[in-house]
Amino acid sequence: MSISGATRVAGVVGRPISHSMSPILHNAWLAAAGMDGVYVPFSVQPGRFTAFVDSLRGGTVSGLNVTLPFKGEALALADEATFRARTADAANVLVFREDGTILADNTDGLGMLRAFAEQAPGFDPKAGPVVILGAGGGSRGAAAAFVEAGCRDVRIVNRTLTKAQDIAEPLGAAAFALNEAAKAFDGAVAVVNATSAGLSGSPALDLPLEATPPSAVIMDMVYKPLKTPLLAQAEGLGRQTVDGLAMLIGQAVPSFEAFYGQTPPESVDVRALALKALGL
Ligand code: NDP
Repeated sequence: MSISGATRVAGVVGRPISHSMSPILHNAWLAAAGMDGVYVPFSVQPGRFTAFVDSLRGGTVSGLNVTLPFKGEALALADEATFRARTADAANVLVFREDGTILADNTDGLGMLRAFAEQAPGFDPKAGPVVILGAGGGSRGAAAAFVEAGCRDVRIVNRTLTKAQDIAEPLGAAAFALNEAAKAFDGAVAVVNATSAGLSGSPALDLPLEATPPSAVIMDMVYKPLKTPLLAQAEGLGRQTVDGLAMLIGQAVPSFEAFYGQTPPESVDVRALALKALGL
């Protein structure tokens, strides 16, 4: 890669950031497209996030992806925000305009829908109820995306019921406690795990997946491990599955378009690169 005076710079900010897969994806796309651009990781001290972002206003960088723990702060400091970001109450994308203003977006939900389109092509979010497990930022993004995609029956299931209710109420969705999961699964066309349960080293949720219809698609946002206990359970029941890596790549596509002004090239297999980085 050669850096010129005209190189377009974007990146990802978070803490910790060294584990981020985003630089691998974006730089592979830039190289494959032969573009004069670079994508760099920024590790920012908690308490320094707003000062860092403000210093970049006016087009110093074209954009930033934002990851933990700054997604809420990113939304708060932006001058404008998309419906998706406002509904998710978090931003994973900041676009820097020449006039010094910043637009916040949230492409996590879009990434989730792209993952369904890729790995469960027959899935239609308008065809019936969808269940989202968890009530954090990932769940909010997913709920907003399903509502935007025309799903009329979104069901949020969470350990802490009040947090599920907080998300459900403004969206016209329904909230369930974890011990009511079987009720929420009844008739569902999809179940999405947006809890951090099942992450490498943490115990998986014990869920009555058999209460879903045989045609239900089961997705897990967690991608370490790639085949989570939930996805293994779903496969055992013969359900179609969608993994979290497809979502990670799916959310990166609209970010790349916002930062570099073109669609990422299909000539490079970024999933293979990501699997290699995960040691798979
Ligand atoms: P948050 O920390 O904001 O929320 C975590 C949620 O998980 C909470 O609702 C919490 O419940 C629930 N939870 C955690 N542990 C348990 C447990 N043992 N039993 C039951 N519920 C539990 O996380 P995010 O929403 O930001 O992310 C959720 C997951 O999705 C993470 O693993 C993250 O890495 C992944 N993710 C993946 C993306 C991708 O591109 N693939 C994008 C975004 C997220 P409670 O409210 O009761 O505390």
